[in-house]
This record gives sequence, C-alpha cells and structure tokens, in this order.
Amino acid sequence: MKSIQQYLEYLQLSGIEDIYLKPQPDRIFSSQKLDELEKNYQDCKKCPLEEGRENFCYGNGNPKAKLMLIGEGPGADEDATGRVFVGRAGQLLTKMLKAIHLERDEVYITNIVKCRPPNNRNPLPNEINACLPYLEEQISIIQPKLLLLLGKVAASTLLNRNLSLTKFRENTYSFMGIKTYVTYHPSALLRNQGWKRPAWIDLQKLQKDYQKLD
Ligand code: SF4
Repeated sequence: MKSIQQYLEYLQLSGIEDIYLKPQPDRIFSSQKLDELEKNYQDCKKCPLEEGRENFCYGNGNPKAKLMLIGEGPGADEDATGRVFVGRAGQLLTKMLKAIHLERDEVYITNIVKCRPPNNRNPLPNEINACLPYLEEQISIIQPKLLLLLGKVAASTLLNRNLSLTKFRENTYSFMGIKTYVTYHPSALLRNQGWKRPAWIDLQKLQKDYQKLD
C-alpha cells in the first residue's frame, strides 16, 4: 500500500494528474456475476438449514482466483458475519496461505453449504444436494486452476468416495476437470497440533503446482 502511495506521490510530483486504468472485462464480469448471484440466493429456502441461519455465507475472495479453497460449512463466526473462514480457524487459514506466499485476497474461499448447520454438525446429504449447485456455479464462473478441499466432509462430498483424510491426502484428484488437493480443515488443526506438520507438507505440494501456473 505504501508503495502505491509513493508511486501516486511520484506521479503528482511528475505533474501527472490523470491515470487511465485499463479495464479488465473478464474480471469485472466474474465479480459482478458473483455479486448478483449472492444477492439472488441470500434468501434461499431450498433446505432446512435456512431456518437457523443468521447470514447466508456465499464465499469471499478473488473472483478470478487460480486457487479456490472449499470447506464444509459456516460456523458461528461465519453465520454472525456472513463471511467465510473468519474467527480462529479463519485466522489460521490466513497464516497457512501466507506460509506458501499467498494472500487471502488472491484466492477464493467458500464452503459446500452456505448456511450454518446447527451446533456445527456435518451437513446432511439433502442439505448438500440442495446447496451443491451454488458451489458448482461458483467454480464455473471463477474457473480456478487448482482446488484445495479442507477436511473430510468437503473431500468425500466432492470426490464421491469415503476415505480417511490420511488416505485422501495421498493423492490428487479431478473435480470438474480441475486438479484437486485435500488437506486438513483449519478447525481440525486447532484441535490437534500434531496435524500441522502433515498439513504443511500438503501445502508445499500445492505451492509447487501453483508456482507453475501462468
Ligand atoms: S444451505 Fe444452501 S440450499 Fe440450504 S438454505 Fe442455505 S443456501 Fe439454500
């Protein structure tokens, strides 16, 4: 931010009063489209999770992200704010991204279900089935090059198989034709410090692929 300010001061000192910013139509389109859809869906009543929600949590981040992170569902902090991955788990996720030199606003983050399951229970199959089209639509608009699934619920739902998280982590997968990694959900890492090391190994593998993207 400081460098932008310095640059603007430099331009001013240089006598430049107007800056022309080249429009990026695809970025604007994705952002507007996601904003529009978020508004359209915010009163969704397609499944029973709407009854207990305070806020619909659609997703946040870069609408043209190369990497999209997908968790399971909003928790209490997310429900209270309408934003995904806030609170302690969100802060840890931000640190995990920073560890592989990514800022949160470079990636897009969302969940399988957009409303909070009561008492943070796992979402039920009918709730997942009702909400999944929203996620698939987000992926189609954003067109990420890599997906990172956070936790077993996200992995078993999208990869359609029932494995332990340890087994899931042994491979990469394809979801909607996109290379997909699996690692621990940050909430699980808060509960068990011993999983931080394997999660770090997963992130390093992902980082290698991310660096190869244009
Ligand atoms: S969880 Fe998804 S399908 Fe269910 S009410 Fe919320 S937005 Fe609609």
